[in-house]
Amino acid sequence: MKTRKDSLRSLKDEEFDLLIIGGGVTGVGIALDAASRGIKTALVEKEDFGSGTSSKSTKLIHGGLRYLQSFEFKLVREVGRERSLIHKLAPHLVIPEKMLLPLTKNGKYGKLDSALGLWFYDRLAVVPTNDRRKMLSKQKALKQEPLLSEKGLLGAGFYSEYRTDDARLTIEITKTAIQKGAVCLNYCSMDEFVYENGIVCGARCSDQIEVDSFIVRAKYVVNAAGPWVDIIRQKDHPISGKQLHLTKGVHIVVPHKKLPLKQSIYFDVPDGRMIFAIPRLKTTYIGTTDTDFNNSPDQVGVEQEDINYLISAVNQAFTKCTLSDRDIVASWAGLRPLIHEKGKSASEISRKDEIFISPKQLISIAGGKLTGYRVMAKKTVDLIARIMQRETNRKLPSCKTKNIPLTRNPFQNMKEVTDYTAEIENRLKGTFKDPSYYAHYLVANYGSNSDEIFSLVEEPSDLSVQSLLLAEFDYCINNELATNLTDFFDRRTGRVYFDAESIIQSIDIISQHAKKKLSWTTSKTLFEQKKILARCISSNS
Ligand code: FAD
Repeated sequence: MKTRKDSLRSLKDEEFDLLIIGGGVTGVGIALDAASRGIKTALVEKEDFGSGTSSKSTKLIHGGLRYLQSFEFKLVREVGRERSLIHKLAPHLVIPEKMLLPLTKNGKYGKLDSALGLWFYDRLAVVPTNDRRKMLSKQKALKQEPLLSEKGLLGAGFYSEYRTDDARLTIEITKTAIQKGAVCLNYCSMDEFVYENGIVCGARCSDQIEVDSFIVRAKYVVNAAGPWVDIIRQKDHPISGKQLHLTKGVHIVVPHKKLPLKQSIYFDVPDGRMIFAIPRLKTTYIGTTDTDFNNSPDQVGVEQEDINYLISAVNQAFTKCTLSDRDIVASWAGLRPLIHEKGKSASEISRKDEIFISPKQLISIAGGKLTGYRVMAKKTVDLIARIMQRETNRKLPSCKTKNIPLTRNPFQNMKEVTDYTAEIENRLKGTFKDPSYYAHYLVANYGSNSDEIFSLVEEPSDLSVQSLLLAEFDYCINNELATNLTDFFDRRTGRVYFDAESIIQSIDIISQHAKKKLSWTTSKTLFEQKKILARCISSNS
């Protein structure tokens, strides 16, 4: 992997075909598509890769059952079909997940329309016969999930989706794009555009780490800044026509023992919306809200009313448990960069994506979903290919990303993932108190690259939770463009949301290790330590 210094030098010295602004899933997806077609590509991200909406989603690779109600068949068909394809590209990271849809007396879906809707959903997404939806009686629904409230329960739909880790998916796509030749840099913000003959031909960018400003030159520029898309568009040209409509979505996390669901559930909320409750390792997370957001995207946060809404929704759906604010161990808030539709409320606006081209040829892409990142990238790069051919006669190959695995040493199928997880679990037996937990954690995050993490343990004969954590940190610094403790504990491992306790327990040792590895001063070390601890403590308060 190129060092940060090498990437900076390339950005300053070379001229690119394409500069992408934004290192969320949309931007890095475009970088991978473009680089794999031979386009000389650069990408700048103002914070960490995936630090925007792409680490704040519900973490599902899903077709969006609810979009059937607004007759968005094309969207459901497109993203529905992508699910199994992305699973094939990263089987350890995009994992099949059965979803339970409880049917209740006053719920959104009745028995007949849910049976029909799910039948149609499976057909649009071409779900294999043995995986298609089943309609369950009340007794079978309760057997599947004993925590469901019996009162008013009519039965349930049981259907196929996929779960993932959004930030890890973004990181893996970034790494693959870099392997294909893209130069991608985090902590580098785009400040202003530069033009030649009235056409955008690059941007002035600033490196947030070395505090340096320079121009990145490129023939074409794509704005993939998610919720910041309109802020970037305004730097180019006053916005006329379509604009973004940001809506906020909040999730809360509770210990699994407080909401010990056996499986993922998509359930009714009294206001007519539906939300998810998803078990993950030692926790269950619940979300999402969907409310209009009119402040700066840099200021999104979780408010008490978001928490009240989610807690009350869970307590009404699962009367056998009672959650309170005190049970929350973590939370996150993200912004959907949707395209405004006059007169429509937050939940009614379509999730479809759209590309805008400004008079000065800035290409902006917004809307869409995590699940549709590959298709969005293809549309964007197809458009650039057409412009390139028209302007320079250069003909680009067609999209290749259907066949590019998203990790090194990829697994071929789920059986290989399960076998490898069992092998890791065996390796940890005897030394680790909870070998199954660690094996699942490692494989879900790093796939077969877990082997490389083991090889980085300083004293292999002294394998422990702590020595493995330090090796994991080194792996992320060496191979995953992590630059600090928050990059590691948030986007690379998700521990800040799903295992904050492990951060608190190891903070001194990991801080000292980071200080040595990254040649930090004492004050820098303390700053980074405080920053991540504040995240854990606010998550736990
Ligand atoms: P972002 O991830 O926000 O990336 C944009 C990036 O641009 C940011 O990292 C930002 O730092 C960077 N940037 C901004 N300004 C600059 C600048 N000047 N210079 C350099 N970089 C800059 N989709 C699904 O498929 N499944 C789900 O389960 C799901 N759940 C969701 C739940 C919620 C609550 C939300 C909010 C969304 C959900 N989505 C889901 C949608 C999905 O998460 C988003 O569509 C997707 O992550 C958007 O990615 P993005 O790259 O466009 O934006």
